Amino acid sequence: MAPQPKRKHSKARKGKRILARINEHSLPQLIVCKLCGKQKLPHYACKHCGK
Ligand SMILES: [Zn+2]
Repeated sequence: MAPQPKRKHSKARKGKRILARINEHSLPQLIVCKLCGKQKLPHYACKHCGK
């Protein structure tokens, strides 16, 4: 069996990783929300409409 991580990574930790990338230089590719038409991160809930 492959070694498994001891704990789940928290949402905060995930967020930190994304923010770090945003602050560095390269924005992750943004997509346009189908519901409200605002830009959002792919695979993440929209900040504007929550979907
Ligand atoms: Zn939206």
